[in-house]
Amino acid sequence: MNCRHCDVALRHSFLDLGHAPPSNAYLTEADLARPERYYPLRLWVCEHCWLVQTDDYAEAGELFAADYAYFSSTSSSWLAHARDYAKRMRSMLALQADSLVIEVAANDGYLLRNFVAAGVPCLGIEPTASTADAAERLGIPILREFFGETLGRQLAKEGRQADLVIGNNVFAHVPNINDFSRGLKAVLKPGGTLTLEFPHLLRLIELVQFDTVYHEHFSYLSLYSAQRILSVAGLRIYDVEELATHGGSLRIFACHEDDPRAQAASVEAVLQAEAQAGLRDLTTYRGFQARADRVKDDLLIFLLEQKRAGRRVAAYGAAAKGNTILNYAGVRPDLLPCVFDAALSKQGKYLPGSHIPVRSPESLDEIRPDLLLILPWNIAEEVMAQNDRIRQWGGRFVIAVPELEVV
Ligand SMILES: [Zn+2]
Repeated sequence: MNCRHCDVALRHSFLDLGHAPPSNAYLTEADLARPERYYPLRLWVCEHCWLVQTDDYAEAGELFAADYAYFSSTSSSWLAHARDYAKRMRSMLALQADSLVIEVAANDGYLLRNFVAAGVPCLGIEPTASTADAAERLGIPILREFFGETLGRQLAKEGRQADLVIGNNVFAHVPNINDFSRGLKAVLKPGGTLTLEFPHLLRLIELVQFDTVYHEHFSYLSLYSAQRILSVAGLRIYDVEELATHGGSLRIFACHEDDPRAQAASVEAVLQAEAQAGLRDLTTYRGFQARADRVKDDLLIFLLEQKRAGRRVAAYGAAAKGNTILNYAGVRPDLLPCVFDAALSKQGKYLPGSHIPVRSPESLDEIRPDLLLILPWNIAEEVMAQNDRIRQWGGRFVIAVPELEVV
């Protein structure tokens, strides 16, 4: 396989998690009687552009099936994050009734709803039918297509270039990142602003966040690799912010390469931090597998010990990262009988691979687990606040990454 960005042959494995089903392929009762598809889940690092990337095997269309169950609006902290961002961008860029905001991967409208409410015209691009339906119900115009150079050029031809182009947690999810970047270039108005948010590879490595690895997540980006990729497409990063979301993300601000905007000092600062952490040094990547295995082993040993001791364990949050760690560790319902999740679209279904049933958070009070393993550790504070009542029966919370902790 060759690098998705620079086409150089990939020679260095970064992480091998064996085989796993697509992490968002939640199963119905009927699906349990059928075979399940597994794909290799392995990451490589390109020693030329330092892009960390998955193996090339499954089609995006198959992974993002029509009943794709992730609805951004089910996380209240993510909604607040989106609201703050929209408010700030409206004033920073003086967006008004004759502006246009385009969001690629608009999901269920969790972000664009804020621009609609402020009277700023917008367009969402979202190929997943169930989330696109939800966005349209909020009055957001949606194009139900995959984004890339063809669609970007078509929108430009129709006079629909945007003052603000947004891509939150999509840049790392596209199989063809070069084509996607050319699409961003095409759809951005001269003088316009592009912002992209993606998990920061630096945090993944520092905090052993190997469970953020899944098939739908094709690239694991540093500022260095993102800058190279956008630059080839004719875009220039002029500012960057470090965010707490998803365990540590970057929000980059970019413009056309010939735009006169000055580069903020933060760009050089983050590039330096990455270099100091060894992100352009192969030895950093070679040691990661052993660190990930340690976290996986600790979780498995913990669950086995609880079972032997007769303690009731359940999980919270049927998130993609939970599926990665549970499948890598080989956890099944005998060790973890159920997972609670607030998303109605997941309740009554089963986690891919592990076949652990998903139940509503209300049933916590019937099951009364002694230990509640929080799978989406990035929203652990929120989950603990919402489910604090487990302490009434002596229940405690467990977090597995970056190291096993009972709180
Ligand atoms: Zn490369």
